[in-house]
This record gives sequence, C-alpha cells and structure tokens, in this order.
Amino acid sequence: MDGKFYVTTPIYYVNAEPHLGHAYTTILADVLRRFHHLMGHETFFVTGTDEHGDKVLQAARDHDMDPKQYVDKVSRSFKELWPRLHCEPDRFIRTTDPEHVAVVQAILQRVYEKGDIYFGRYEGLYCTGCERFYTEKELEGGLCPQHRVVPERREEENYFFRMSRYQEWLRGHILENPEFIRPERYRNEALSMLREPLEDLCISRPRARLDWGIPLPFDQRFVTYVWFDALINYVSALGYPDQERFSRLWPHAQHLIAKDILKPHGIYWPTMLKAAGIEPYSHLNVHGYWNVDASKMSKSLGNVVRPLDLVEKYGVDPFRYFLIREMTFGLDANFSETALVQRLNADLANDLGNLLQRTLTMARRYCEGKVPPAHPGEGLDEEVRVKAGEMVDNYKREMARLGTHRALMGVWELIGLANRYIDRTEPFRLAKDPSRRQRLENVLYHALEVNRLLSLVLWPVMPSSASEMSRQLGLRAPG
Ligand SMILES: [Zn+2]
Repeated sequence: MDGKFYVTTPIYYVNAEPHLGHAYTTILADVLRRFHHLMGHETFFVTGTDEHGDKVLQAARDHDMDPKQYVDKVSRSFKELWPRLHCEPDRFIRTTDPEHVAVVQAILQRVYEKGDIYFGRYEGLYCTGCERFYTEKELEGGLCPQHRVVPERREEENYFFRMSRYQEWLRGHILENPEFIRPERYRNEALSMLREPLEDLCISRPRARLDWGIPLPFDQRFVTYVWFDALINYVSALGYPDQERFSRLWPHAQHLIAKDILKPHGIYWPTMLKAAGIEPYSHLNVHGYWNVDASKMSKSLGNVVRPLDLVEKYGVDPFRYFLIREMTFGLDANFSETALVQRLNADLANDLGNLLQRTLTMARRYCEGKVPPAHPGEGLDEEVRVKAGEMVDNYKREMARLGTHRALMGVWELIGLANRYIDRTEPFRLAKDPSRRQRLENVLYHALEVNRLLSLVLWPVMPSSASEMSRQLGLRAPG
C-alpha cells in the first residue's frame, strides 16, 4: 500500500439542506481518512459545496435572496454539520472561492487553446419559466417538473468540449485498470456508456439567461456549465497547478460518490483531465443509495423524523457505526430507527460495552488496575491470540478496499470470542485460588490486549467512543 491517501466527497449542490446521503459519503470519507492515518499514511480529506448554476439561482429566488447571500447560508449549514458528525475535513472548498474560479478559468483556457473546445449550436427542450434546458429524462410525462408545461424546442449557440476525442483513450484506461472505477458493477456501467459514441459536452451557458457562474476566459458572454466548474474542485483544492501538495497527493486521489453521479465522474472528469494534461485520478469509488423506511421512524409533531435528527437522540458514534456497518459498499441499504436501535443495543451496549466493562472491573479487582504479565498460555489463550491477529489482518485488508462492513464483522467476531473466553475461563473462580494466580493473570492479559486492539480499530468509525475506551485502558488515543 502506498503511503499517501487523498480522499474527496462530491462537493454538495447547495439547492437543498444536507441529508442522509451527504452524511454517509462524508462520514465514510472521514472513516477512511482516519484508517489511513492509523496506518501511518499522509492523508488529505476534501469536501465542500457546489454553488453555481440555474438550480441554485432558482433556489435563491425561491427564498427571496441574492444568490451569493443564499449560497453563503447553505454552504455554512454543510460546513457546520461535519464537525457535529465527528468529520474533520482538511479543506472545505466552495466553487465561489476565488482560487477555484482562477483554476477553472486556467483549465478552460488551456483546453481551448489546445483546440478541444469549439463554438457550436445546441438544440434542446427549453422551459421559459425555468430559463433552462431539460433532457428527456428530466421531464415528467413530457412536462417541465416545475411548471407542468410542454417545453419548447430551442436552439442556442454555446461552447462544446470535444469529449468524443478521448472516448477510446478512456475505454482503454478503464480496461487496463480494473480498479479505476469500483465496485465492478459501476465499472461495467461506465464501459457500457462508452459503447455508444460519446457526444461532445456543452460546457457554457449564455449570460443572457444565466449570469450565476464562472465566465469563460475566452468569451465573456458565457458562463461555465456547472459540472465543468464543479469537478475541477478536486484539483483546485490541492492547489493545482503550482503547489507541491498537488504533485504529491494527486497520484493518490480517491473520489467517493453515490451512483447517481457516475457519468460526470466516470466519463466527463477523466476526459477533462486528459484534455488538460493532468493524470487521471487513482480510484472512483461508487456507493448505493440509502432507502429510508419512514414507517419505522418515530414522529415528532406529526412529521417523520429525519435521519440526521437521530444523531441528537442516539449519539454521533452509534450513528456513524450504524451507517458504516449496515451498508455493503456499492449496494443500496435500508435506514430505519428500529434497525439503528437494534444495532446500538446488540453490538455496542451488549457485545462491546459488556466486554470492556467486565475486563476493566476484573483488572481493577484482581490486578490493582495494572496490566498483569503474560505467562505460557493454554489452548484458549492461543485461540484468542491467533484470532486477534487475524482480525487485524482482515481489518486492514478490508478497510483498504472499502469493505468496511466486512472489516467490522471481523471485529465483532473477535468481541464475541473474547466474551466467550471470559465466560469459559471463569476468572472469578481463578481469583479464589492463589495457586492459580498465573492462570488468572494470563486470562486478564489476553482480555486487556483484545480491548487495546479494539480501541485502535474502532477509532476510525467511532472516534470519541474509542478515545474514551483508550483513556479507560490507560492508553493514549490515536489521532
Ligand atoms: Zn419550468
């Protein structure tokens, strides 16, 4: 494994407040960052907000606000949420940041001079109420979803990115690098998008109808299409092109996204990078959706509680644990309060809480709160020692390839084994017989060692609970 880890979430579109999907991606990024930190790697974690475009302008109008005032407000609600979820991004980037704007314009200029951006005609379905084009897919029963009217066919002059030129290169790159887009189902999906000829990407909007965007450096009558602007955050956040951090960390870039934005990240972005003369990112990691089961959520004042409201009720770390344990990376998962409470009671209170408390109690009672010496062991001790080693190996392997739920399953197998180990060795009986002192010390030694390992491997997922665990064990918390 390489000693560097650069992880990004999508920068979130500010036309709505943060929800469960945003929380999951950002928590996962933070979990992976902490894991790589434990492994001694250099890490950098970026999240932020995507603030341009017609939907943002529309949302600002709906709130009777000036667009900048509106994006400042919503961006703040994202920025303030992350520390409350124990997420610690190194950089919170906004597409209205002047440094980002400068990088977008520099890349546009470069690609334009290279001949990969040209002026042409765009024809599509346009809603005058929304002042924007819709794709067939976005319409509902052929109508504008906002205004319920049939959009008109309209032509517009715009700039286009010659994406088609990089189609064959991208196909080859995905085929040669099986882990470039993962899991495999999304790699296959990207490959199937590339089976049809790629159309060139319209990357501008006339300022006459949309003024809220980054002006094209070579034609001030137009602003940049939001995706072309937003994707560039992944390099501008590292200080592309001049900063040393960019050259050091970009080769290790890993993007985390939900499956709905596979096309911009799996197709547009690598071709944009190629055209700009930048190496492709290392991995695009794609996760599924959370289905929220409203019937299994409690209600307050007649409204169904939103998942993020449950953080207050049950605590941040249990919430993080639930999300990371429950979702198989790449597949959809179900969220409900009932399931959260079950995990909290069974895994955290019973299994983990019980193991820690009984171990600490015995250490205090029988060994004056000190770690006793280890002695030549018996079969049961050996089993715990071997299984603990296997848990750590499995954990490292799975966390490195996004198998977070499997990593945690392995951790809980060890917790179960350690609880049974204490049941079977019966330390309270050993303590009554002075001739069995060494046996007692050995059992306590092994139980304490398992707890020590747990306080480390659980830190990425439950940072404050694991730190508290370290404190109780008299250890220094990671971080
Ligand atoms: Zn409309």
